[in-house]
Amino acid sequence: MTGTPWLPAHVVDVRDLTPRSRSIVLEVPGWPGSLPGQHLDVRLTAEDGYRAERSYSIAGFGPGERVELAVDEVVDGEVSPYLVRDIRPGDFLEVKGPLGMYFVWRDADPSPVQLIAGGSGVVPLLSIARARAVAGTDQPFRLLCSVRSPEDAMYRDEIEGLEAAGVEVEWIYTRRAPARSARGAGRVRPGELATLTWPPERHPLVFVCGPTSFVEYVADVLVDAGHPALRIRTERFG
Ligand SMILES: Cc1cc2nc3c(=O)[nH]c(=O)nc-3n(C[C@H](O)[C@H](O)[C@H](O)COP(=O)(O)OP(=O)(O)OC[C@H]3O[C@@H](n4cnc5c(N)ncnc54)[C@H](O)[C@@H]3O)c2cc1C
Repeated sequence: MTGTPWLPAHVVDVRDLTPRSRSIVLEVPGWPGSLPGQHLDVRLTAEDGYRAERSYSIAGFGPGERVELAVDEVVDGEVSPYLVRDIRPGDFLEVKGPLGMYFVWRDADPSPVQLIAGGSGVVPLLSIARARAVAGTDQPFRLLCSVRSPEDAMYRDEIEGLEAAGVEVEWIYTRRAPARSARGAGRVRPGELATLTWPPERHPLVFVCGPTSFVEYVADVLVDAGHPALRIRTERFG
């Protein structure tokens, strides 16, 4: 988006979410607010002038100058290990945004909403689920989270708490499932997606977010099952 300025941002809080992910709260003077599901760009500048930019979804939404991000460490990545392990309150970076008008939920849309997350793809979907709670709607929402293991579930307590507000929550464990799990571990299969998500007959608006391979696989399975492609919004994290 041309014309969107870089804004200085100070880290005001960090919190471990899992052994390899953390939430980062920024104070951004002049931040214009964001819609549920939007993201921003982060720019880091080293002392020698070297710069790196990456996109991160915004876990919150709405007005105000506090912006919450959540970063999962990509092993051997350039930026995410720094954000997860080294950044501290008081540190400075720059942000540009909010960005993206497509992967956005508006509470005026009465459709049932199906959210499908792979790993850190849960971040913008949590923003959308938080917006549902603030809107006070009883609109049907269902959230399917695919994570490697129970310990890798970002925002697990908050996500499980969504059930009390009427959001149906389902978990898939790809590498290691909890001992009590009858399903065991493994990637989600087409037949499972049909039982763990709203069927096409309910005309849901579907948001799918996560690694590219996960998003493309899920979107293909949903289209094969009869969901109109135009009702499936996707965001790929790389
Ligand atoms: C719109 C958008 C929103 C995003 N939101 C978030 C978010 O909320 N939280 C978050 O943790 N990340 C998010 N990402 C991913 C983020 O931008 C970075 O790609 C990620 O943090 C890795 O950066 P890095 O510098 O550590 O790795 P890099 O040095 O850029 O990449 C290292 C290697 O890892 C691969 N890789 C990059 N990203 C991923 C990934 N997500 N999963 C698996 N392999 C990957 C690359 O292809 C490369 O081979 C988002 C990406 C986009 C496009």
